[in-house]
Amino acid sequence: MGNAGESQDHFDVVVAGSGAGAMAGAFAAAARGLRTVVLEKTPLLGGTSAYSGSAVWLPGTRVQERAGIGDSTASARAYLRALLGDAGGAHREAFLETAPALVEFLEGDPALEFEWQAFPDYFDAPGRMDRGRSIVPPPLPAERLGELASLVRPPVDRDRAGLGHAPDAPLAQGRALIGRLLLAFTTTGNGTVRTGTAVTGLIAEDGRVTGVEAATADGPVRFGAARGVLLAAGGFESSAALREARGVPGSADWTMAPDGADTGDAIAAAVRIGASTGLLDQAWFCPGLAMPDGRAAFALGLRGGLMVDGSGRRFANESLPYDRLGRELAAAGVPAYLIFDSRAGGLPAISIPAAAQDEHLRAGTWAEAATLDALAGMLGVPAGALTATVERFNGFARAGRDADFHRGEDPYDRFFAPDSCLVPVEVPPYYAARIVLGDLGTKGGLRTDPDARVLDARDRPIPGLYAAGNTSASFTGPHYPGPGIPIGSAMAFAYRAVDHMRRDHA
Ligand SMILES: Cc1cc2nc3c(=O)[nH]c(=O)nc-3n(C[C@H](O)[C@H](O)[C@H](O)COP(=O)(O)OP(=O)(O)OC[C@H]3O[C@@H](n4cnc5c(N)ncnc54)[C@H](O)[C@@H]3O)c2cc1C
Repeated sequence: MGNAGESQDHFDVVVAGSGAGAMAGAFAAAARGLRTVVLEKTPLLGGTSAYSGSAVWLPGTRVQERAGIGDSTASARAYLRALLGDAGGAHREAFLETAPALVEFLEGDPALEFEWQAFPDYFDAPGRMDRGRSIVPPPLPAERLGELASLVRPPVDRDRAGLGHAPDAPLAQGRALIGRLLLAFTTTGNGTVRTGTAVTGLIAEDGRVTGVEAATADGPVRFGAARGVLLAAGGFESSAALREARGVPGSADWTMAPDGADTGDAIAAAVRIGASTGLLDQAWFCPGLAMPDGRAAFALGLRGGLMVDGSGRRFANESLPYDRLGRELAAAGVPAYLIFDSRAGGLPAISIPAAAQDEHLRAGTWAEAATLDALAGMLGVPAGALTATVERFNGFARAGRDADFHRGEDPYDRFFAPDSCLVPVEVPPYYAARIVLGDLGTKGGLRTDPDARVLDARDRPIPGLYAAGNTSASFTGPHYPGPGIPIGSAMAFAYRAVDHMRRDHA
């Protein structure tokens, strides 16, 4: 294993990846006096977590209590049980038990604070919080991080355009979360970060994982881990080959993850030493607005318009929470089209940064026509069907009730469109924006126990090896219960992993 002359660095804890789960675990380890290294494959820290809205679904904590919103562990338990049944019950309980302790621990550091954010849970089920229960970190002034700020991945639109950091802008949303965790981690004095360092393999001695092998620009390096290795290096959403092999709908071109970052390396390394996997055909889905460069943008928060499939018919409540609408899109087959009119000023009725309208029209990701029949012709959709669909929808909009898909009846539907999301499409010119199946990351991966220990095919923990975030199989199965579940669960299980590493050596 490894080349002759390869250098070896020794730590207590080695963390692969630098998303929110990785950084929370790394901080927890370093704060407890464990010498900890974060290894990040790309030159920038934060992965998809840095692109995120930083909503963290950690119920029943002091933050919700401060906000006086009436959230509780018991109501979150009722909600998760109603949605997930008894599947993953031990993980659910571990998650619920950990959430308040994790937030208390994090807020004990001056770099970390949270506030409640209104954003409804995604399903109508007992225990739901109609106004939401997720928490977010406030923006972080860049000067608090000093030169470390330039290590945090820029917001998605700037990153994709190669624009880098907006000078002097505070770190907001996902960047605030990563920046705050990074500040807390490095301030412990026990934390080291290595960018441009890709974990390529695991070192096992007598059945125990004792370190990792990594590739760097200067050649291979080995990192010893006396207490444990935490794999939190994302899923495999950016690998076209793995997606196809595992049957994940969508496309590596349409994922929202940073280009080339999350390609399943950590999962593959663990499988090579006997780890087992689960849920591999699943992702956190979302509708994606097809972009002129062939990629997709997260289409969140439809305020008007309607969506049709290739037959010109509606197929779902367009205001569904994004993972649910994504699953409807997968069932309907892509592409689908968002039909809207000039009422929105020629912009799609969704709260996303869109490329300029002209650019979309030139690239063919949008079509524009004076009549619905002409629009249908441009899309290759049956003209009569599109016109009939829009007329029927307009009737619902005027009546204020969607008899087909009940759009507007759920608190989530109204969150982005408090007045009404049922707006007639009737003021030419008409537009169609191409909608594809996007994702925020795959959610299948290494099977773990409730302490985030990676399991082999016979359900035995592999000593010294832990996984969290999209590297692990999510306990939520094919559901996305509420805003902040991916990051909240990543952080909670990373925290439990570190707790277990300490107990294991006590
Ligand atoms: C626009 C947007 C908004 C979102 N908003 C939210 C939200 O508000 N709340 C929420 O919970 N979720 C949100 N999500 C989803 C969420 O961001 C991701 O699912 C989650 O952050 C994934 O976390 P992760 O740690 O598993 O992976 P990532 O955050 O992607 O981190 C993985 C890191 O590992 C690195 N890596 C990969 N391979 C290796 C290797 N071999 N060695 C070392 N490093 C490696 C990658 O480069 C990457 O930096 C959002 C997503 C998007 C795109």
